Amino acid sequence: MAKTLILDSTLREGEQAPLVHFTQERALELAREIDAAGVDFIEVSPIVGQKQMEIARRMLQENFSATVVVHCRAKKEDIESMLALDPKFIAIYLSTSDIHLANKLHLSREQALDKAAEMVALAKSYGLKLRFTCEDASRTEPEYLLQMVKRITEAGVDRISITDTVGIMTPASFYSIVKRVRETTSAGIDLHCHNDLGLALANSLAGIEAGADCIHASINGAGERAGIAKIAEVAMALQVLYGQRKDLKVAKLAKLSETFSSFTGLPTDPFAPIVGANVFRHKGGTHLAAVLREGKSYEAYSPESVGRTRRLVVGGYSGKNVLRYLSETLGMNMSDEQIERTLRRLKEKEKDLFDFSV
Ligand code: ZN
Repeated sequence: MAKTLILDSTLREGEQAPLVHFTQERALELAREIDAAGVDFIEVSPIVGQKQMEIARRMLQENFSATVVVHCRAKKEDIESMLALDPKFIAIYLSTSDIHLANKLHLSREQALDKAAEMVALAKSYGLKLRFTCEDASRTEPEYLLQMVKRITEAGVDRISITDTVGIMTPASFYSIVKRVRETTSAGIDLHCHNDLGLALANSLAGIEAGADCIHASINGAGERAGIAKIAEVAMALQVLYGQRKDLKVAKLAKLSETFSSFTGLPTDPFAPIVGANVFRHKGGTHLAAVLREGKSYEAYSPESVGRTRRLVVGGYSGKNVLRYLSETLGMNMSDEQIERTLRRLKEKEKDLFDFSV
């Protein structure tokens, strides 16, 4: 499997989520944090307005390790309005599904093929690296999608984004589409999966197994509707499941979510993998006993590896082991009888009293 790249779209897709707005300064601060985590591309959308244009201009002037990708429609005026920013990498999008061609773009399939090839050639004529996004690719008739892929490849595109715009793929169905695209083009393949049925990560992983080499993600999955794949999950899946991208600074992922929450007022789901408040909190008596001996007993990856700490919850679900641990740690020297009595009282409380880090 090729090295899998990550594109962070928090500042583009993420800002399309309700209640998500970043001031220039905050967008820059977030971009720096995202860059420091080691992602490969950061996507912005200067075409939306003056603020986004200024954010893109400032990002392009800073020395990011990640490549800044400016995103706009596959339109001559959009592409040419990006030139003043002097970008290195541009992404243009055009829908390819019949439903979008008919209702949104009012183009025939033939016209869309011509337009796509023309816009790719135009962007390439300015010496730009170029990604072409086939919007709504998952609902595009497969033979037509492959025709489109072929045409834009011939026109010189560098990367092609295969999207599941409304999140209706299964991993198996997405795998077969991406595999056919892989067989049709030599360009890099991006995956942009929406999470309407909670399958954005699974579909993205199926796509890289089929030969794609870049996953789009955002902090906490922010995006239109149910959002897209979450950057923390993508990064850790690549490390834990595929043993790649050890260069990603995964200890910074929780801080990314914190910054995002503080800038937007949108809390992080406590059950969110890697970054959620509950991920390393153990509660059940048998879990606590096992984790006190060996963290791996109930952890897929260690809290230290992602800059977190393990916490044990004391309350009605506790058993003797955790009380004995506390008694020893705090030098209380509780007898077996005292521990039994405390345990009985805890069970009567029927709530969690406190948690502590170990
Ligand atoms: Zn999207």
